[in-house]
Amino acid sequence: MSEIKFVETKNLKAKPDVSKIGFGTHFTDYMFAMDYSPTDGWHDARIVPYEDIPMSPANATLHYGQAIFEGMKAYRNNGKAVVFRATDHLNRLNNSARILDIPQLPFDTIHKGLMKLIDIEKDWIPKDKGQSLYIRPFVFANDGILGVSVAKTYKFLIILSPVAAYYAHGFAPVKIMVESEYVRAVRGGLGAAKTPANYAASLHAGMIAHQKGYDQTLWLDGVERKYIEEVGSMNILFKINGEVITPSPELQTSILNGITHRTVMEIAKDWGIPTVERKISIDEVIQAYEDGTLEEVFGSGTAAVISPVGLLEYKGKEYVIGGGKIGEFSQKMYDYIEAIHVGEVEDKFNYIEVAGSY
Ligand SMILES: *Cc1c(COP(=O)(O)O)cnc(C)c1O
Repeated sequence: MSEIKFVETKNLKAKPDVSKIGFGTHFTDYMFAMDYSPTDGWHDARIVPYEDIPMSPANATLHYGQAIFEGMKAYRNNGKAVVFRATDHLNRLNNSARILDIPQLPFDTIHKGLMKLIDIEKDWIPKDKGQSLYIRPFVFANDGILGVSVAKTYKFLIILSPVAAYYAHGFAPVKIMVESEYVRAVRGGLGAAKTPANYAASLHAGMIAHQKGYDQTLWLDGVERKYIEEVGSMNILFKINGEVITPSPELQTSILNGITHRTVMEIAKDWGIPTVERKISIDEVIQAYEDGTLEEVFGSGTAAVISPVGLLEYKGKEYVIGGGKIGEFSQKMYDYIEAIHVGEVEDKFNYIEVAGSY
């Protein structure tokens, strides 16, 4: 493993009042960086002051989008600075790298780099309940050539941003529009990678959903427009007749294998609740609604952790779920995962990785 260089700065920023800032608007004093070239491979692992990066106007990522990212969070947990499922997130980054033909990152170096960065920046982890330090690792092609090809050079960075509690006004249900016109990803495409292209593909439909008064878009499969895929930046789960049912990232390669999704399924199993990952059609969901067996609908993702769905709109009709209130299971799951983050309950699944102590 290569050594990680540390370039110190005495010019430290004032920390903002996290409850008053938007998501991803403020960054910490340092970032982790590493470069890739065909001759040196991944090299020059370093923690350096957070700063702008010089870039060629012909930068391949700006033109062709060969880039991947991750999103995870650090918390204060009983006197320790911890990261939730860092290993799983970094392994998924390498899976996205494989899909985008980006050279595999050296796991040990990036994991050590992340933990060292969090330890250095631990005072940036906000103190109040629900707040956290958002971690954004990303890789992008760095060639300054307009020819279309797999790039030869890349840059890997990890930047950190303190974030407020996602639910500023309390844990609350969202309204979701089932998208039947646009598609985000199709099988054989990039849906299983955490890559900017999937977001670019979702912005226009998301804006229309917003204009119509909905919070987010629920994507159906791009081929038959029939099977449930996921919500823009969250996976989706249904509780029908006592069973937790969710689309399968193994069977449906156009959805992201969410780590919060995996967490929910592991905990639900531990609680003895029946769970299944399988294809589920929008018609099946509507039928369950009509039959009165659709108990709860909720999204899962690092940003919100759990996002209860209070209303689904599909083809001009609105379906109010559970009286528009938060379901019992969604609430219990949210509380439990939040308690694991900050060490209020035992971490029996070993999700917590310690970066440093206070
Ligand atoms: C990041 C992301 C998710 C959520 O994944 P987590 O690992 O739970 O944060 C879901 N869908 C998409 C498209 C994503 O980019």
